[in-house]
Amino acid sequence: MNKGVSKPFFRRSLKWIWTVAVILFYLFSYHSSALSTYSALDIDQTINHSSSSKIDAASYASKPVHFQTLSSAAQDQKQPTPKQPKTVYLTFDDGPSKNTPEVLNILKEEKVPATFFVLGEQSKQSPELISRIVNEGHAIGNHTYNHEYSQLYQNFVSFWNQIKQTEEVINDIVGIRPQLIRAPGGTYGHFDQTYFDLLEKGGYHVVDWNVDSGDSTRKNVPAKEIISNVEKAKLNDRMIVLMHDGAGHNETVKALPQIISFYRDHGYTFKTLTPEDEPLHFSVHVESKWSHRIAPGTAWIESHVDVNAELFHPGTVLALEVGRMQTELKSGEYRIENNKYMVPLRTLMEKLGAEVYWQGQERQVTISQEPYLLVVDLKKSLLQIVRPESKASSIQISISIRNDKVWVPLREVLQSTGHPIQEVTMDNDKRGIKTL
Ligand SMILES: [Zn+2]
Repeated sequence: MNKGVSKPFFRRSLKWIWTVAVILFYLFSYHSSALSTYSALDIDQTINHSSSSKIDAASYASKPVHFQTLSSAAQDQKQPTPKQPKTVYLTFDDGPSKNTPEVLNILKEEKVPATFFVLGEQSKQSPELISRIVNEGHAIGNHTYNHEYSQLYQNFVSFWNQIKQTEEVINDIVGIRPQLIRAPGGTYGHFDQTYFDLLEKGGYHVVDWNVDSGDSTRKNVPAKEIISNVEKAKLNDRMIVLMHDGAGHNETVKALPQIISFYRDHGYTFKTLTPEDEPLHFSVHVESKWSHRIAPGTAWIESHVDVNAELFHPGTVLALEVGRMQTELKSGEYRIENNKYMVPLRTLMEKLGAEVYWQGQERQVTISQEPYLLVVDLKKSLLQIVRPESKASSIQISISIRNDKVWVPLREVLQSTGHPIQEVTMDNDKRGIKTL
């Protein structure tokens, strides 16, 4: 009986337990799967979100790549995705010229910054315009010294020399070494891989364009045509517009206000190009007439290109403690060549309180620093030292001229004025020399 009563009861309760178990199982598994689906979705979207923002940032040059944490990315999902800002970079080549003041006036009125790829030859003639460009918040780029294709694309060394020559001119005027370079005529047809590689190695950034205003396709292209060329170009998030402010480009000046309005109406922000921007240049293709040029040798690259990138580490000043005098040479005011500090003689000696005289005919520099008299003879590469109450002596030094400046080895010059070097510090961010 007990058995009979207990059996159905047992069965019933088993069924009940089973039902509860099944319900519990379904409840639990549904819940956990919902949970896991949700988190998978969440992570997925998070990944998508951050990777898409990464791609956007990378393709959109001036915006730094921004890595978000997962939680902040998830939070951001609740917000509607903000519209990507669009940027236009107005660039002017071949100046400065008499058109440049007018271009600057328009930019000032419209409160728009731009980038000027200037020629060294022109800059030397109108240094006041280079100063004005910089003072009004625009960027300066290097467009070589004289724009002569036959010299520039003959071989890389000629191109490099013109870049350096122009750089010295600009540095003398405004104390800036432009890192941005635009090749005359653009890189396409002109640059081979060596040009690209060595310029990059030297610390430069080559920038072509993706909108040609067509203002230099022939003489006096009318403003109307320049505007229409700009307006018909396909709109991207990043527009680099080629224009010219060189002599003869009055029509570009006339077209400029309309070009500015066009980009403004399309929601673009105006910016200057910077070396930090994602590079934009044409693919490598060399016209056959340039294809036989010879690339520079290893020794030349070592002594010119390798040390050049040093110039663009703005933090690296060379602190000098010479006797009781303290001064410093900014990057660009010294360079390291074959493990030796080379300095522009006048810059150094004037900082140390000496008087410097240049005798052009004799090609000699005379430096008077009590109680010493130094004579640097460029013809003989000789440094003569006249000390009081002792015989004059002389040593052979390596002298080089760079854009009218006489560069000499720092060690020898300091030693000759009775200050042998005692201590040299050479860290990445700190360089210093201490003498007796
Ligand atoms: Zn040009």
